[in-house]
Amino acid sequence: MPLDNNLPAQRYLVGGRVQGVGFRPFVCLLASELGISVSVRNRGGQVEIVAQSGHERTDLFLHRLLSEHPSIARPELVSAENCLPSEEPGFRILPSETGGDAVLLPDQSLCDACLTEMTTPGTRRYRYPFITCTQCGPRYTIMRDNPFDRATTSISGFPLCDRCRAEYDQPLDRCFHARVMACPQCGPTLTYSSGSRGVTGNKTALARAVSALRDGTIVVVKGIGGYHLLCDARNDATVCVLRARKRRPEKPLAVLFPRAGATGLDRLRLDCAPSEDEARALRSLERPIVLVRLRKGSELSPALAPGLTELGAMLPHSPLHDLLAEMFDGPLVATSGNVSGEPVVTTRADAERYLEPIADAFLHDDGPILHPADDSVVRIIAGKPRALRLGRGRAPLERVLPISLSEPILAPGGQMKATLALGFGTRVVISQHLGDIDSPRGLDLLEATADSMQRLYGIRVRTLVCDAHGGYSSARWARRQGDMTVLRIPHHQAHASAVAGEFPGESPWLCFTRDGAGLGEDGTLWGGEALLGRPGAWARIATLRPFAPPGGEAVARAPWRSAAALAWDVGLDWSPPNLDVTLARSAWQVRLNCPATSSVGRLFDAASAFLGLVQQASYEGEGPMAIEVIADPIGGMEDAMSLPIDTRADDIWQTDWRPLVPMLLDDAWPVKRRALAFHATMALTLMTQAIAARCAHGDFAVGLAGGVFQNRRLSELALHALHAAGFRAYLPVSVPCNDAGLSFGQVIEAAARQ
Ligand SMILES: [Zn+2]
Ligand SMILES: [Zn+2]
Repeated sequence: MPLDNNLPAQRYLVGGRVQGVGFRPFVCLLASELGISVSVRNRGGQVEIVAQSGHERTDLFLHRLLSEHPSIARPELVSAENCLPSEEPGFRILPSETGGDAVLLPDQSLCDACLTEMTTPGTRRYRYPFITCTQCGPRYTIMRDNPFDRATTSISGFPLCDRCRAEYDQPLDRCFHARVMACPQCGPTLTYSSGSRGVTGNKTALARAVSALRDGTIVVVKGIGGYHLLCDARNDATVCVLRARKRRPEKPLAVLFPRAGATGLDRLRLDCAPSEDEARALRSLERPIVLVRLRKGSELSPALAPGLTELGAMLPHSPLHDLLAEMFDGPLVATSGNVSGEPVVTTRADAERYLEPIADAFLHDDGPILHPADDSVVRIIAGKPRALRLGRGRAPLERVLPISLSEPILAPGGQMKATLALGFGTRVVISQHLGDIDSPRGLDLLEATADSMQRLYGIRVRTLVCDAHGGYSSARWARRQGDMTVLRIPHHQAHASAVAGEFPGESPWLCFTRDGAGLGEDGTLWGGEALLGRPGAWARIATLRPFAPPGGEAVARAPWRSAAALAWDVGLDWSPPNLDVTLARSAWQVRLNCPATSSVGRLFDAASAFLGLVQQASYEGEGPMAIEVIADPIGGMEDAMSLPIDTRADDIWQTDWRPLVPMLLDDAWPVKRRALAFHATMALTLMTQAIAARCAHGDFAVGLAGGVFQNRRLSELALHALHAAGFRAYLPVSVPCNDAGLSFGQVIEAAARQ
């Protein structure tokens, strides 16, 4: 169609997810199809489009622009206005304007078009493990600077070959302006090494790695965002060696399944029984680890998830993982390549230094990772995919703030499961999971991420927001930052504000904050609170009777200590099998190193110990997970106990857990019934407090916050009961309800106080 430069022109500013997703090439293709002259340019985080044609055609252009865009793009029209026609009609992508509102895009899993090319013999990238296009491949983890361009990523060290360059420049090609595209001639290459021997070359390195895996070898494999430790998930002996070397005796290990069948899930279904929602989550673009039910008769090693009925499963996210899993033709353990709790390893040198004691072979490539990202973890609870960990595919996670910040703030979250949140203007961005920042490597990553997030978004903060617990590494880090204002937010207020921040349409709130422990405003350890109000104005109106487990920090890893404190409190002479508790009991009698707590997480621990499930935990949450697994799958609230509520001198309601102890120890009941009755009682307890609060304070939305609500049984019982009683009840979906959501809550709380 001929173009006419005397026609009026429109200027559109489009925001949302429009950079690094093939949006500008899409604009050009669409314009060419409609015979419209356009120029396109990146402006900060947005795209400016000047379209020149008759009004009718530009209206159609705009409509299709916003409805037919590439699947990973999320364009939002910011403004539309008339402007002067351009002197030069045609299709032009103008140089990017830097600065302003940058957008960081999470890494994308292998797209269908690339999968087709990779699996079609005779194509240029047949079986090439680093195939990508505008719709897939690494993004955030290789991004050095903004805006996202080949020159600002770590792939800049791989100049395009002539044939790739031609595809890059060809507007009708799938790889038109694909910033991280590569081919066997110009892209990264695999190297396999074992001991002192190594071999470079994609085909041979892959074949050697697969044959090593078949022989029961543990292989370190570099993926998007970091290294994985891989081994045969059906080989019991190898899995046990991995556990022993990683010093991870019980904690569940994730499994990567080869894609098979039309849905990709046929192979996975031999070992697991995903529900429809879980199947959808497994196949989602983020390709997270999804917790799914293990099938009876599964061939997987029982050592993968000892005592549990669920497994963390995933489908391949990168072309390399797809090829590996397909060639191996079976399930592979794929656990983060790290030293227990530390950040995932990203460089060849660190992999060889830290993982050499665990693994026997390495599959490296020569493309550098700039920001680590573990796999994201999702669990379906009450029909929705709830994020438990933010990582590859999901982070950085951006949310809109309900109010505009007068100055930018940075929040480093809690201690375990740390994330960073950067708030500026009406935006808040949550980083990937940083791991336990108590370790030197964890703290280094916190610092590096704080720097890179500010640099990539072009923001410098003067205000830090941290947990009120001065002993947390994150709080100590905040205090060390010199010339900064440091705002300290109580742990459970941040949890409550995180729920309120995710559902900004609701207010006021009654938030139940249930977790292991966080420093309360009265100096004791809280973990079973009900906070009424809104961000910036929370009041604790209900709690649980405090108890005093002996052992201080040891309590978190020793469920028997919580059980003993409850039993002794009600006058029972309880002790775990084969353990001398004389010293602990003497300490408890004089409350020596027995900090008082109202923690529901510790109540779950105690119940797990009373039922004989876990006395000593080898990982956080082992006790609560064991009791969730064993709870009778049939039944609901029938056996819930109605616990007494008292009003304390300070007018706070306090639910008394003491009637639970004889129930949990009543051998006349099967363990699975007692486990279910415990869950139901915990659900009824919060329901009863919510009803009392409604009588006293009127209408509010109910929020469930804190790591305890990762327990599907409890959350589903609670949500069901609350909805049935007429409450609008919410459990977070996109921001984890555990401590990984604290940084987001800290920003929401600080924003409300500005
Ligand atoms: Zn692709
Ligand atoms: Zn090439």
